[in-house]
Amino acid sequence: MKLLVASNNPKKLAELEQVLAELGIEGVGLVSARDAGYTGEPKEDGLTFEDNALIKARAGAAATGLACVADDSGLAVDALRGMPGVLSARWSGAHGDDEANNRLLLAQMEDIELRSAAFVSCCALVAPGRGEWVAQGRWEGELLRAPRGENGFGYDPLFAPVDCGGRSSAELTAEEKNARSHRGRALRELAPAIAALR
Ligand code: IMP
Repeated sequence: MKLLVASNNPKKLAELEQVLAELGIEGVGLVSARDAGYTGEPKEDGLTFEDNALIKARAGAAATGLACVADDSGLAVDALRGMPGVLSARWSGAHGDDEANNRLLLAQMEDIELRSAAFVSCCALVAPGRGEWVAQGRWEGELLRAPRGENGFGYDPLFAPVDCGGRSSAELTAEEKNARSHRGRALRELAPAIAALR
């Protein structure tokens, strides 16, 4: 069975490949958006991670006729009532400006003692004529007061996961992060639905 991964990020395809291998799920050929000739970028105007993941997975499935997996993720800060949330990539205005997003978040949180936060990922699977599935993964932690570490991307230098002995997620290796992260958790939960489509 072919499965479209609706993302231009090769790391996401590799992560799903690793999760399927870990769980011994064979017979699923992952196809990148580029390999499928799929260039669609639907408007991500949902109010939740689940809405946006479904928007992306439905668009990929409709354009190619393939079963399609897509994810949407972000940082949910308790003191900000779950924001930046779906606005994580564009919190400071410009899409994908990690440094500006991090600076703004640190300034907003400067006088706030409650530092709990979580990375959240929603993964959606849409199989034309078969159904739709959504799984969510959370990775709990605390916001630091200054950036630390060089690995990862986005808010990683500001986030100290509960299960990493005080290190930031930018101080973890890719293997350490994948084994614990929100995305890995959501993909592992979705994997049985993928396996049942074969
Ligand atoms: P996307 O869903 O992968 O496009 O991620 C949306 C935004 O959420 C990113 O631009 C980051 O700001 C943030 N984000 C999601 N996952 C992570 C992560 O694992 N580390 C750091 N930031 C993340």
